[in-house]
Amino acid sequence: MHDLIENGTMWTLKEVGTDSEQIRQNETLFSLSNGHIGTRGSLEERHRTQAYSHSGSTLMNGFYDTEPITYGEWAYGYATHHQTTIPVPDAKKMDLSLGDEQFDLETGKVDHHSRTLDLKKGLLTRTFSWENSRQQSIDVTIERFVSYDFPELLAQRITIGSEADDLQVQLTFELDELEDMGKEESAEDDPDPRKKEQAERRFDSESIATDSGRMIHISTHASDLHAVIYDHVESQSELVSLERVENKVTASFQTDKSAPVVIDRFTAYSHKYSNEEDTDTHAEHLKKIMSEVEMLGYDEVKDRHISFMDDFWKLSDIELEGDQALQIGLRFNLFHLHQAAGRDGHTNMSAKGLTGEGYEGHYFWDTEMYMFPFFLYTQPEIAKSLLMYRHSILPQARERARTMAIENGALFAWRTINGEEASPYYPAGTAQIHINADIAHAVYDYGKVSEDESFMFNEGLDILVETARFWLEWGHFDDERKGAFVLNDVTGPDEYTAIVNNNFYTNLMAKKNLSYAIEYVQKALKQATDKLDELHVTEDELENWKQAESRMFLPYDEEKELTMQDDSFFHKKVWDFEHTPKDNYPLLLNYHPLTIYKHQVCKQADTVLAEFLFFDDFKMEQLKRDYDYYEKVTTHDSSLSRSVFGMMASQIGKHEKAYDYFMDTALMDISDLQSNTKDGVHAANMGGTWMSIVQGFAGMRFNDGTLYFTPHCPEEWSRLSFKVQVKNRLIQVTLTPSSTEYTLLEGKSITIVENGEQIRL
Ligand code: BGC
Repeated sequence: MHDLIENGTMWTLKEVGTDSEQIRQNETLFSLSNGHIGTRGSLEERHRTQAYSHSGSTLMNGFYDTEPITYGEWAYGYATHHQTTIPVPDAKKMDLSLGDEQFDLETGKVDHHSRTLDLKKGLLTRTFSWENSRQQSIDVTIERFVSYDFPELLAQRITIGSEADDLQVQLTFELDELEDMGKEESAEDDPDPRKKEQAERRFDSESIATDSGRMIHISTHASDLHAVIYDHVESQSELVSLERVENKVTASFQTDKSAPVVIDRFTAYSHKYSNEEDTDTHAEHLKKIMSEVEMLGYDEVKDRHISFMDDFWKLSDIELEGDQALQIGLRFNLFHLHQAAGRDGHTNMSAKGLTGEGYEGHYFWDTEMYMFPFFLYTQPEIAKSLLMYRHSILPQARERARTMAIENGALFAWRTINGEEASPYYPAGTAQIHINADIAHAVYDYGKVSEDESFMFNEGLDILVETARFWLEWGHFDDERKGAFVLNDVTGPDEYTAIVNNNFYTNLMAKKNLSYAIEYVQKALKQATDKLDELHVTEDELENWKQAESRMFLPYDEEKELTMQDDSFFHKKVWDFEHTPKDNYPLLLNYHPLTIYKHQVCKQADTVLAEFLFFDDFKMEQLKRDYDYYEKVTTHDSSLSRSVFGMMASQIGKHEKAYDYFMDTALMDISDLQSNTKDGVHAANMGGTWMSIVQGFAGMRFNDGTLYFTPHCPEEWSRLSFKVQVKNRLIQVTLTPSSTEYTLLEGKSITIVENGEQIRL
């Protein structure tokens, strides 16, 4: 049983006592967010000893600054600017004093210290008793949540009781000042590329006058983004005096053993915007929100948030009986996935969600290939917002294609916030042009599963056409290969193999991308929509796509009877796994890239991912052979790997392996499997966890408008149940090791297929 999991609970993670070793990891695990703002699960006291120093950032999705990338040796078309999510003033911090002593975890005596993350309600609660050196003691409870009902709002309630009367207590609330930002980060000089860029934090702040509370306007230096933050403190207890001096609000009171003192803090963070002139509008907007929040009061605002959470769980929960830790682990992953998604069409999901600054807050292919399916089948409106974000950055993607000497079409950035390429290392960045097809794949799936024709014939078509165009110009028909269509000098998902010709995953995805574009253009032709004129798709162009699609080169070794990851993969020497010390993993931190590239060694699933996605296109024997081969040369140094191997294992009947991979996947962050949870959760792996249940163990796939299942529930569990939304139906699927049940909860009757047999629901 893991430290954070208590016997008998199904919805909570609880940290009992304080552990300075775990503090950063738990900050990540206890992060709260709503896709707009996110705040790490840091302790509230501003002053603390070195052992408990932390990284307590509060982040706004899409709020970043830029900085020129300095290259030792520049080449044309390199990404020009870093984009780095920057923490905004943190409204969790406070100073607590009893008499003349200030609280920290190593002063006086701290008892019964615990923090509980309630996944069902989306609440983090901390309780402790503190006795100062004069043997005076108080009981403290601090509850916080990031509201789903008011996306701008972080709410906190501080309750202080005592068994003694008349103890003098003071609480001081302040918003972080610019000069403080990031100071708590110990000046780590860590070369790990997966961490944030150690860029200087850069924004200005100025106060805006308000009648109550403190409002500040912050603006970044280079990206010129603006935000307004409104911090308001109010007391529910009469004996408290609230004093505001400049930036500080101080609540002073004396304890009363008959009733604890309750103080509420509300902080609203406006959406980022890009024009200083809008500051007044945003300030007014926040004032309105704050007056509504004040009028409703903490309890009502909290109830509304909880009811939002209830609705989420009704559709998205996975119930698993037979393994308590796993049940919590599953819910924990779903909880964080839900928290991570931008919902406004202008933001997306970063690789760490809003739980940390790892990977600088960038959006990757992780969204479409790992997180998107969860939303698609449980909350399609969020899936759509994520695609709307991609649509919104099409102009930057077109521009990027031009930089890459592609005259038509678009190339999405490998990693980005604002749409521009932010990857300074092109072999494992820009070269991963498969991102275009990944996005097209998500668009296509969204169209099929949601039947949202309006999106598909507008934004969807824009993306499908512009990505298809790109492939035609990147690749060519190769006479040396009997006119097959080839894609050279690309990097597939496996970042331990770079700049290769004909990466199987990329070529297969590009082939699918072309077929999606052909299908929708043909449909649009029948409907005679204006969109095609707008996009200037011609008969010739369509014919070229058809040629490239049908003649796409898919590397295969006839002798070995194996799918080749790329043209050169089998010509490389297999990595010496036997003599590689455990400490040398992940390899990327211990070997020069070229040392890695010249070997057969994979960081993550590549060919196996392609085959898993299009499972029905392959023969079972082939899938098994490829799985066995690639598993041996894969290190899983990327957190995106295990879930894919697990799902494939499930589908090819390697049930023990499927189970083992799944356990690592589902508990990855709780057990800090990758040793870097402190930098933020592994959001793609969390999506992989959902996929492992639904597409792995239940074997669900949606092909040509039909839902297929090939279920296998591990013997270790007695029951597994989840819901999916498909074509405006809500279907509940329940598995046990010996049975399956499909229940149509909403919508018209539908036929599904289980192991080849039709079932009418
Ligand atoms: C993986 C990529 C992934 C990125 C962000 C890297 O380690 O190799 O596939 O997109 O992390 O999660």
